[in-house]
Amino acid sequence: MKYIQEAFDSNWIAPLGFNVDEFEKEFANYIGTKGAVAVSSGTAAIHLALSLLEVKRGDTVFCSTLTFVASANPILYQGAEPVFIDSEPNSWNMSPVALKKAFEDADRKGKLPKAVIIVQLYGQSAKMDELQSICNAYQVPIIEDAAESLGSKYKGKFSGTFGEYGIFSFNGNKIITTSGGGMLVSNHQEAINKARFLATQARDPAIHYQHSKLGFNYRLSNVLAGIGRGQLEVLDERIRRKREIFQTYEKELKKFSCISFLKELKDSFSNRWLTTLTINENQAGVTVEEILKAFEKENIEARPIWKPLHLQPLFKNIPYYPHHKDVSISEKIFSTGICLPSGTSMTEVDQNRVINCIERLLCHSH
Ligand SMILES: *Cc1c(COP(=O)(O)O)cnc(C)c1O
Repeated sequence: MKYIQEAFDSNWIAPLGFNVDEFEKEFANYIGTKGAVAVSSGTAAIHLALSLLEVKRGDTVFCSTLTFVASANPILYQGAEPVFIDSEPNSWNMSPVALKKAFEDADRKGKLPKAVIIVQLYGQSAKMDELQSICNAYQVPIIEDAAESLGSKYKGKFSGTFGEYGIFSFNGNKIITTSGGGMLVSNHQEAINKARFLATQARDPAIHYQHSKLGFNYRLSNVLAGIGRGQLEVLDERIRRKREIFQTYEKELKKFSCISFLKELKDSFSNRWLTTLTINENQAGVTVEEILKAFEKENIEARPIWKPLHLQPLFKNIPYYPHHKDVSISEKIFSTGICLPSGTSMTEVDQNRVINCIERLLCHSH
């Protein structure tokens, strides 16, 4: 409220202003990149990253398939074509095996992708060492979609700082929010400046309104950046609480061998944005659908895992590289996965209701 009040008191409501500058600085400091540009959404940040890499009609972009549609939509905005890459079973994120195969095929056709969008899903980092070494071998830049993994780490380094560009979202459902907003981060100061220019309608430095490039209206307002500054101050506490929620679920439910929680891989630190798990339906005697229905009956909101993008009608006939020729990991996770309620304002009583509901279902079915 203090930061918002300052925006009103100084009469800098929008666009830009002190809060925007400070939010960008504080954010870049937190995750350890040279620069950051506050924008109107995570989707806008991905779109800017693709624009900076000059992705255009006729180009291809590799992208994780197990993600929210916003990871890939900006590829279409640019008139380019996505190629979807499967998950591997441990991190649920991009499979190095499938990525390698996609690169080999692209190389053979003489048409390498312009970029690879690697998603850090549900707070868990992808196997970045393997993925980076493949992308580096073909000299193709990485855009890291860290919308769900602010504060997560891989080998001690923050999520979103591995690629050429990293993007974050402050949509209402994310670990911190500005109601709506996003951030583009990079270590290339020149690219950051250019992103800021493109996000402000690409207005040339002239007194009259002159434009020589196609730009966007993507900047974050000074009021919302004020919310972001306040939210950044509680991020560590949110992560602590998210991890505590996960630990409680795990402690209470690990007695059921039909439940497998998404692991926190060695060398990684997850913000545990959502507690996610898969169910062995045969062993459990109930289906994911039945579990979600039982939750709904008790007014508990739970969700399936993101539907893989290669299964979306929007992306029909788009090339897809599974983890193994006959094994699509993302499809398996999708058909057996659940996101449990993980809101940081959830009470112990709330969480016990969720746990009891699962216990009743699974014990009853045995
Ligand atoms: C939320 C989200 C986005 C998009 O962010 P918006 O701010 O809603 O545009 C992109 N990728 C993933 C993986 C997300 O979860």
